[in-house]
Amino acid sequence: MGTPRDSREEQVTVVLDRLYEAYPDTTISLNFSNRLELLVAVVLSAQCTDERVNDVTETLFEKYQTAEDYANADEAELADDIYGITFHNNKAGYLTSMGETLVEEHDGEVPDTMSALTDLSGVGRKTANVVLQHGHDVVEGIVVDTHVRRLSRRLGLTAEETPEKIERDLMGVVPESDWQQFTHLLISHGRAVCDARNPSCDDCVLEDVCPSSKLDHDVDLASGEAW
Ligand code: SF4
Repeated sequence: MGTPRDSREEQVTVVLDRLYEAYPDTTISLNFSNRLELLVAVVLSAQCTDERVNDVTETLFEKYQTAEDYANADEAELADDIYGITFHNNKAGYLTSMGETLVEEHDGEVPDTMSALTDLSGVGRKTANVVLQHGHDVVEGIVVDTHVRRLSRRLGLTAEETPEKIERDLMGVVPESDWQQFTHLLISHGRAVCDARNPSCDDCVLEDVCPSSKLDHDVDLASGEAW
């Protein structure tokens, strides 16, 4: 079928209802036990899988336990300690610089504002949103990662292209109380069913409302190109 609801607000409602039912317990899949670990894990997860990050942080978090540990780390040794993570050399640089800023400007603590977080090395708005939501219980926006970008466009929830514009656009149609779970629901569905190259439209709980459904649409709205 693949017929979206008349308005984006109604489309959001049906998407949320169905995905809450399909993934009732979904949440962040990175492992952490405090705010610093969360921040480090999210920085490492950029363009890398959460599984890989969790593998590496299992030992990393035993060796580096405070902001000082990162600030004083030998960058080459730290790069070695996160070997296996995408762009591990760059990220080792981010972590040492981040550690220095945390020590010098925040008493070694992870700050709780968007502006202070995005001033840290390697921290953009997406990372800051995750840290605010899961470290400080502050929900200031919607985390837009590659899954959220792809599914929001496929499902006709936004036509914007950049994560920043998509976030702003979605904040106008997704109820604020759902901002945090919206991300996790779309990520879960993106991983389980609606993957980038070969989505399983046959098995999708959103097929009847999806304007990109392969069953009766020729174009993938995520890319704007033919399936
Ligand atoms: S799996 Fe297919 S029908 Fe379901 S949301 Fe993705 S593109 Fe749409």
